[in-house]
Amino acid sequence: MSALELFASLSGCHWINGELQAGTSPSNYDVLDPATEQRIGELCDATREEVNQAIGIANQAQKRWNRTNALHRAEAMHEIAAEIRRQRPLFAEMLTREIGKTYKESFDEASWSATAVDYYAELGRHEIGRVAGPVVDGQFNFSLKEPLGVVVLILPFNYPLCLLCWQAAAALVAGNAVIIKPSELTSLTTLQFVQAFAGLGQGLVQVLTGGAEVGQQLVRHADTHMVAFTGGIETGRSIARECAGMYKRTLIETSGNDPFIVMPSAPIDIAARGAAFGAYLNCGQVCASSERFYVHEAVYDAFVERLIHHARCIRVGNGLDKVDMGPLASQGQRERYERILHRAIEQGARVGTGGGRPRGLDKGWFADATVLTDIAATMDIMHDESFGPVAPICKVASLDEALALSNDSRYGLGSTIYTTNLEESMRATHELEAGMVWVNAPLLDNDAGPFGGRKQSGMGRQLGAEGLDNFRHSKFVMMDPAASAQDFWWFPFRDEDAFPGQR
Ligand code: NAD
Repeated sequence: MSALELFASLSGCHWINGELQAGTSPSNYDVLDPATEQRIGELCDATREEVNQAIGIANQAQKRWNRTNALHRAEAMHEIAAEIRRQRPLFAEMLTREIGKTYKESFDEASWSATAVDYYAELGRHEIGRVAGPVVDGQFNFSLKEPLGVVVLILPFNYPLCLLCWQAAAALVAGNAVIIKPSELTSLTTLQFVQAFAGLGQGLVQVLTGGAEVGQQLVRHADTHMVAFTGGIETGRSIARECAGMYKRTLIETSGNDPFIVMPSAPIDIAARGAAFGAYLNCGQVCASSERFYVHEAVYDAFVERLIHHARCIRVGNGLDKVDMGPLASQGQRERYERILHRAIEQGARVGTGGGRPRGLDKGWFADATVLTDIAATMDIMHDESFGPVAPICKVASLDEALALSNDSRYGLGSTIYTTNLEESMRATHELEAGMVWVNAPLLDNDAGPFGGRKQSGMGRQLGAEGLDNFRHSKFVMMDPAASAQDFWWFPFRDEDAFPGQR
């Protein structure tokens, strides 16, 4: 079946109990290709009955899965990774048609999804607890890691496959079932993608489509046991609040407004290429996009000139063509981004290049790769997430100033510095208030290292050992194999332990 035929066959469905199930509510979202604005399918909100059905099935499936051994789970996960790799061309084409990113970016995303699944396949069986030194002679004391039960994944639109795998792989190897609520903008590709997990058994991985209401029902349901949310700050806040009221565990990964510092010792052309990648990858729709630039005055003019050059070289167009940047994901995303861009211009930013919509692309939600100069650190664009292809550049006089401005933010996701000065690298590493610091290496991820934010960019971590522990309870066990009397605690208390004074 072609990608377009698949979109038609997935329209209006959920993935419940190992099969596509036609939704019973009327379809209420058209799915549009952001490069052509053509309708490629439709979605519906899962009903309360469908939500209850999926949660009931997930709880049963989780109990079966939790009885399987760790090697079996590892082997099953490796097979999923292999299946994802086999189907990368299809997933990449579907993702590009549904969300606009270039085919290469979609293909890379499918590849990163597979590596995360392979990573957690092994990490999941590496250890499931630890032995503690006993506090009593002859005792055996240990902790066990146990699954939470049914984990709800609420996902954003920008990296729907790899974020799904970062979280689902960790949750599954820990013995959980997952229910995924994808973004309204990426549900059809997700419905196809999760079929790669079918070998795990029916009902262990399910997908319910729909909007905020469906997410809320999953969050509030008494029989879901954790919510892993990735998306905007305000949505994250409301989910964290709801879960706190129920003492339900959460992983909250939200927005970023990452700084990018350039110091005089940096190789300026390389730094500018790195900046173009950080600012324009996925049309600027990366949570850890480089969003605000603090460039030392000694190299400001040279850096601006090189970044303008690299921005002008970016070919914008349909992600299925030979281009470097596709459109923004939806009309709403472009309108939101353009409001932020126009506000910056109103506040005095000068357009170095771009600043509008590419000529000749009348259909589709395209935007220019844009460089803004004459930026004051107080401008709104330096304090809000733009989530679009813009690089606003602020001149600074010193590393102290760059670090202070970088940290003057409610966000704390990623951060980048370009310098070849060792002392500056170390200062930035220690002083930047962020979950990730990239020194001359913008926007890299490593499955083996924790990813996540500080401040309002989130609570908790994905990836690495930290990303696995989100999805596990610990249970501490103290065992006396000899069942000896514990006279040091038990009754009767000895008279010599009584209060020694006078009452
Ligand atoms: P969003 O907050 O609008 O939506 C995210 C998901 O939440 C969607 O599936 C949506 O349907 C659902 N949702 C919305 N309201 C809800 C509610 N009240 N209850 C339950 N679910 C609800 O975010 P988005 O626009 O899809 O994604 C973009 C944002 O995601 C950006 O801010 C970006 O920085 C952030 N993001 C963060 C990370 C990270 O790791 N920190 C990664 C990717 C994206």
